[in-house]
Amino acid sequence: MKSHAHVVVIGGGVVGCSVLYHLTKLGCTDVVLCERKELTAGSSWHAAGQIHALNADPAVARLQGYTLALYREIADATGQDVGLHLTGGLLLAETQDRWDFLRADCARQQMFGAATELVSAQEVRELCPIMDVTRVRGAIYDPREGHIDPYGATHAFARAARLGGAEIYRHTRVVEVAPTGKGTWLVVTEQGSIECEHVVNAAGLWAREVGRMVGVELPLVPIEHHYLVTEDIPELAQSQRELPGIIDLDGEMYLRQEGKGLLLGVYEKDATPWALGGTPWDYGDTELLAPNLDRLTDNLAKGFERFPAVARVGIRRIVNGPFTFTPDGNPLVGPVRGLRNYWAACGVMAGFCQGGGVGLTLAQWIVHGEPDGDVYAMDVARFGAYVTRNYTLAKAREFYSRRFQIPYPNEFWPAGRPSKTSAAHQTLKAANAVFGVSYGLEVPLYFSSPGEPARELPSLRRSNAFQAVHDECHAARSGVGILDISSFSKYEVTGPGARPALDRLLAGRLPAAGRIRLTPMLAPSGRLMGDLTTLRLDEDRFLVCGSGYLQSWHMRWFSEHLTDHAQVRNVTDEYGGLALIGPRSRELLTRLAGIEVTDARLPFMAVTPFDLAFAPAIVARLSVTGELGYEVYVPTLQLAALLDAVLDAVDGLYARHIGMYALNSLRLEKSFGIWSREFSRDYTPRMSGLDRFVAYDKPDFIGRDAALRDRDSEPDKRLVTLAIESRGVDASGYEPVWQDRSVVGFVTSGGYGHCADLSLAMGYLTSTITEGQEGLSVSLLGDTCACRILSQPAIDPSGARMRA
Ligand SMILES: Cc1cc2nc3c(=O)[nH]c(=O)nc-3n(C[C@H](O)[C@H](O)[C@H](O)COP(=O)(O)OP(=O)(O)OC[C@H]3O[C@@H](n4cnc5c(N)ncnc54)[C@H](O)[C@@H]3O)c2cc1C
Repeated sequence: MKSHAHVVVIGGGVVGCSVLYHLTKLGCTDVVLCERKELTAGSSWHAAGQIHALNADPAVARLQGYTLALYREIADATGQDVGLHLTGGLLLAETQDRWDFLRADCARQQMFGAATELVSAQEVRELCPIMDVTRVRGAIYDPREGHIDPYGATHAFARAARLGGAEIYRHTRVVEVAPTGKGTWLVVTEQGSIECEHVVNAAGLWAREVGRMVGVELPLVPIEHHYLVTEDIPELAQSQRELPGIIDLDGEMYLRQEGKGLLLGVYEKDATPWALGGTPWDYGDTELLAPNLDRLTDNLAKGFERFPAVARVGIRRIVNGPFTFTPDGNPLVGPVRGLRNYWAACGVMAGFCQGGGVGLTLAQWIVHGEPDGDVYAMDVARFGAYVTRNYTLAKAREFYSRRFQIPYPNEFWPAGRPSKTSAAHQTLKAANAVFGVSYGLEVPLYFSSPGEPARELPSLRRSNAFQAVHDECHAARSGVGILDISSFSKYEVTGPGARPALDRLLAGRLPAAGRIRLTPMLAPSGRLMGDLTTLRLDEDRFLVCGSGYLQSWHMRWFSEHLTDHAQVRNVTDEYGGLALIGPRSRELLTRLAGIEVTDARLPFMAVTPFDLAFAPAIVARLSVTGELGYEVYVPTLQLAALLDAVLDAVDGLYARHIGMYALNSLRLEKSFGIWSREFSRDYTPRMSGLDRFVAYDKPDFIGRDAALRDRDSEPDKRLVTLAIESRGVDASGYEPVWQDRSVVGFVTSGGYGHCADLSLAMGYLTSTITEGQEGLSVSLLGDTCACRILSQPAIDPSGARMRA
């Protein structure tokens, strides 16, 4: 055994072996893997081996596509049989909503270059003659899908890694991981110790226990899962052609051919967590859990109905095994905040669909310093302190039982809520707010009319919220909209080193004291890392604000890149916030302040302390809606009283509560992008238009060299705003944009512009496509809708209103 390695990977399941392989592939060859027992001794050996591309998040779906394509490559490279059966896969739809969802998903997959197609019920029947298609509306057919042998696939990754120089130590349990004090890690195993620069936790079912060795509580929980294998089915015994893999979304089961029988797995409604007190160290290898068919009765009844042949044969084998789930079902990948060079590659629910992509991403991160694109959906930093063990358990169980449900863009699932509420929550609730959730915090989406239930119905089309949001938008453009913005993240950066540290961290110029600037933050590759708003409260005191759900992500970056001379504190929960938006907001502020708040006293993009009612407030004059507007921050415990004072002071100002839906509509009308949509690690300043906020003449900032190259080259795509001719449905994100029959771009976000009376979307189009070009269209729920590029924002193109 080596006593030193550059990277030690803990865990020899499919994920650990994939990480190891990808590290060697990227040239990092001084790498070892420690496995407690034999390779695959956790969840991996008893997986059903089905491989499919479906994922609600486009970035994860893309990495699943990568994983699927990898199996042939590693089999060829190593000679290890991976048992690849490329049978193609079917995703079935029964209801109209599901069919709409599949049509949208198919268009999205095609945009990524996949040869997916929609097939009719009759075609489904031809591909799968043992299926009763009476209730089937249609399906997506994906030729990349099928199944593999989990043992062979894991060993192929391992063999490919060994060929690349890696070493694998079996029967080598890691018992301790500790920092050496020299910036390295000491990995203590049953067979000896290894000092290394990087540690990867790929311990699957034991990832929680391995995390706890370094004091980290990773949000994942093992859940029991059954599949059964039938005896031979005569129809299959006679057929020459293997059935496609099938995901029956409405039946909440998956199915594939196994020999001449069927393998059928189900996601039952009542998920059963396993080993809540900790995964036993002696579990695994060839051990399974006792099956409990009673739990599966409902699903099996649906299965027998859809596949009557199954009911006519016996069950040959039942597998009940545990595998891990996170609160949102996506993996935990990336550097763990506060632990230098400690990496997560765990919580992977579908290791044979995602393992390749996870391995590639993590290897890029370790070797190149950052992943090649936006992987936020699986970044371990998407969760924060609000994720307790109970929360993880509640959400993971919910995810399991809703595994195949439609991910409606306007639906916030109920488990784990409310976990965190703003200080103004009761007032908002009394005003009939419909809440969503952001980073654990209940946020108002819109306000239902008095007397109507405060409930938005899940929909892929415009929902029952439409009229209320319309009214809120008009109030904000003609009177005052009052919005709880406590969810916005706020970081206080102070100290004598604050200015130089921020100057290097941010690509934009810092504001003067009392002023505000929008300031992009870049990665060394020149891609976007943040779109922050910097308020300079004093010479050496800054309040940096951004999207609330990015708090852990931001703080990880800050702690890696801010110098010791600057102190950064996440003060998000210490300040509550209100946005006062609209042409009458200045009058409202004057009433609250008791002094005339003129434009001269508080000009556009200025920030100043004010007493508002009885609260000491920080008042910033800006609004993402493009209206005259103010963002007001007060100590959290004073927010409710301030909101009461605001509501007492609004007489005659045409004021009303507004929610996040209205904010989205208003900002789309101004063509203002937001993070995770128009701005992300996938884009550069030039593509996104944020180059206008980059101070290229600053001598030093992170990503400067790459930013200069980006400035001097023509981007292949650019951000535009589209007006779409659609009825009853708006874009929500990742819909393809076509010119005649070619894909020329994609939507990043969309919605209805209630004041412009237009269905709007923002998105990236090939740079050669310009305003006025004919033949552009967007696929919305599979329908082709004509669209045009707007040459200027739909509302107030000169920006006069926000400067009024
Ligand atoms: C019944 C069932 C069916 C499934 N079907 C599918 C499917 O069809 N398709 C699909 O994609 N996925 C499927 N899965 C999920 C899939 O099995 C998992 O996503 C995958 O195996 C996770 O791999 P992993 O490497 O993260 O974890 P694991 O397989 O659990 O591997 C972790 C490894 O780490 C080792 N280890 C842990 N602690 C230590 C330590 N301290 N020192 C050294 N080694 C350690 C363990 O021994 C183990 O080998 C299924 C799972 C189950 C249970």
